[in-house]
Amino acid sequence: MEHTRNTKFAADAYFLGPKSENGAWVRGEFQAILDHWFDWRRSLFAGDPEIISEARRLSPDFLREREVLGQELRHLLEMLRAEVPKYTPRYVGHMVSELSLPALFGHFATLLHNPNNTSREAAKIGARMESEAIAMLAQMLGYDPAAAQGHFTGGGTVANFEAVWRARYRMDHALSLALVLAERDGDRLDPFTAAHMGWRKFEALRVEREVSDREMRAASMVLSNPLDVGRRISNASGRDYRGPVLITPGNKHFSWRKAANLLGLGEASFWNAPLDREGRVQLEGLKRLIEAAREDARPIVCLATVAGTTEAGEIDPIDDVVDLLDDLRKDGIDIWHHVDAAYGGFFCSMLGGDAEGALDPKQSAALRAIGRAQSITIDPHKLGYVPYSCGAFLTKNKQAYQASSFQAPYIDRADDGDKWRCTLEGSRSGAGAAATWLTGKTLGFEAEKFGAIIAAGIEARKIFQAALGAENKLVRPLMPSDTNILCFSLARNGEKLSAANARTLRAHEKFQTSEEFSVSKTVMAADCYEALINAHVEVYEGDCDADQLVLLRCVFMNPFWADPRVSAQLISEFVDILKEYVE
Ligand SMILES: *Cc1c(COP(=O)(O)O)cnc(C)c1O
Repeated sequence: MEHTRNTKFAADAYFLGPKSENGAWVRGEFQAILDHWFDWRRSLFAGDPEIISEARRLSPDFLREREVLGQELRHLLEMLRAEVPKYTPRYVGHMVSELSLPALFGHFATLLHNPNNTSREAAKIGARMESEAIAMLAQMLGYDPAAAQGHFTGGGTVANFEAVWRARYRMDHALSLALVLAERDGDRLDPFTAAHMGWRKFEALRVEREVSDREMRAASMVLSNPLDVGRRISNASGRDYRGPVLITPGNKHFSWRKAANLLGLGEASFWNAPLDREGRVQLEGLKRLIEAAREDARPIVCLATVAGTTEAGEIDPIDDVVDLLDDLRKDGIDIWHHVDAAYGGFFCSMLGGDAEGALDPKQSAALRAIGRAQSITIDPHKLGYVPYSCGAFLTKNKQAYQASSFQAPYIDRADDGDKWRCTLEGSRSGAGAAATWLTGKTLGFEAEKFGAIIAAGIEARKIFQAALGAENKLVRPLMPSDTNILCFSLARNGEKLSAANARTLRAHEKFQTSEEFSVSKTVMAADCYEALINAHVEVYEGDCDADQLVLLRCVFMNPFWADPRVSAQLISEFVDILKEYVE
């Protein structure tokens, strides 16, 4: 659009506004959606009769039902007045805020048509929009949109499960092939090396050594009896097969524990990669775990890193991790790497424009490396400003996406119109895909618009952090903050961590009762965050006498924090609430 080139991007046109400032034209657009819905029905099947006549609509029976429905709807609306107000900049509690208008319009319009994206038969347009929206997200995340595959999910939890599900199939395919070759032809079997042979070698070996589907099925833990196959792996490899491990960093989301559990892995097979003093995955520790798995001949079903931790919005050094994994791949060890970017995936929208300036170069480099991973989770219902429930799962290419196919032959064609065969969920609403689609078409997932909104959140966090620190000497920010989340404790110089924890908890309770702000708290446990906790306590020369760190947590994603009037007023009120906690 030529005329917008020299004007400033008007982010406030994309949100209703805390006082419904855009209400008049937003009402018009909702009206247009309803008009479309009505007209659509009237225009289709023109020869069909009207069923509900005017006389019928005016009959007492009908009017009575209408009355009841109207009353109960008013009742519902009245109840919703007490719902948590997440649209306001006073809400900095969790990873949600004001919804964007394109997302709302897209969601609402599609909701009325109720497509089920599980199948093209139930979602002709819904499925097409889904493919296009996935391509938009793929582009933003650094995948080749023509090669990438994916679908929308109920959220990040399910998207993470999708990754593990596929990675487990890939591992099983490779292990079955290697077991056949060991039992049938006397090849040496090392479960670690075999499980990481990668697709190319798998395909080549299968053809070259003429291994049939029937042979592979009989050697598969998924398609045969897993305990029997495990014993056969032990016999063929000459050592006890102890099963695979799942490696995630200590800063992972709780969904990974659920994934390990669903996969049938015990806690002892769910390995925590250690974190550094800044709370990000530590490369040397990761290397040691990979070596330990190799020595134990245990396959790594999947290795996950996090872009935007749930606690603090931190970004793992994904670039270093993919370099490490690329080096291993050169040695024939192809480990499935999944980036859990449920929260932080949308930070990629800042890359390549002015917005990127809000990030530290280290974080930019990490975000740029996301596209080198096999698969990614991203949650449009968090930083995408899209209504619940809307997560997405993406793979770099078709091969990674197809791995979950139930049917022989091993690689079944995943037709992107009919996804039900390769999605964990069955019926899936098309509304989230459409909300993301309309956001991509209007705000675009690039630095100029969408990225600018996200960057403004990071800038707001910086301003808030500086102002709060200047006004209250007890405020101890968790350092560093990579993105738009500020975590802080309230601690006196030289005091015990347990005392600071108690004070921070009291402050959190105060926020909960005052209702002026929604602030969350997070508790970091020493079993994962020991180095970070020590670094935090060192700043105030405290005494580390507790095995956890309690923090207040503020998430800056509301677009109106970018307005200096909003931030000035809210910061001063926030400081006031904390004023009883003084040096
Ligand atoms: C929120 C989150 C998840 C889980 O996503 P849901 O949409 O709540 O299921 C997973 N990983 C990370 C890093 C998250 O922040």
